[in-house]
Amino acid sequence: MTIRKILIEPDPFLRQVSHEVEKVDDEIRKLMDDMVETMYAAPGIGLAAIQVRVPKRIIVIDLSKDEKKEPLYFVNPKIIVKSKNNSTYEEGCLSVPGQFAEIDRPDQCHISYLDYNGQKKELKAEGLLATCIQHEMDHLEGILFIDYLSKLKKNFIVKKLSKQKKALERIVV
Ligand code: ZN
Repeated sequence: MTIRKILIEPDPFLRQVSHEVEKVDDEIRKLMDDMVETMYAAPGIGLAAIQVRVPKRIIVIDLSKDEKKEPLYFVNPKIIVKSKNNSTYEEGCLSVPGQFAEIDRPDQCHISYLDYNGQKKELKAEGLLATCIQHEMDHLEGILFIDYLSKLKKNFIVKKLSKQKKALERIVV
C-alpha cells in the first residue's frame, strides 16, 4: 500500500466531476487500499479518490475510534433518499487543512453503491456516517464544504490556504 499525496484547495483538479467506475477490479482495489492508507496516515475519517488526483467515483470512510480498523468502501455511490430533517456537524476536510465550519446536511441518507468486491449494496446511514458520506459524495461533484459558507468566509479560507501552500512550496524548493 502506498500513501498518496492529498491535493489541497485551491486546486482546479478538486473541482472536476469524477467518472463512474466501470468495473471493480484489482487496479481499483489497489487504489482503494492506497486511499485507506492515505486516510489513516493523514489522519482523517473519509477520503474521495479525486483528493489523490484520481477522478473516479470512489470514497472510503472509517469512523471506528478504537485500534480495530473498520474501513468502508463505496464505489459509484448514489443517493436513493435523503431525509428532510437536517443535522449540523463541524466539518473539516483533508483538502482544506486546519479549517472547520458547522455545516447543515440531511441527517439520514439511503444510498446504493458497489463494495470492495464489486457487489451491489445499499446502506441506510444516519448521524455522523450520513454527514461523512454526503461530504465525500460532494467531492465527486467537485464540491467542497467551504462552498456552503458565505462568500466572505470562503474567500478568507481560500486566501489563507493559498498563502500556506506558497510557504510550503518555498520550503520544498
Ligand atoms: Zn473532504
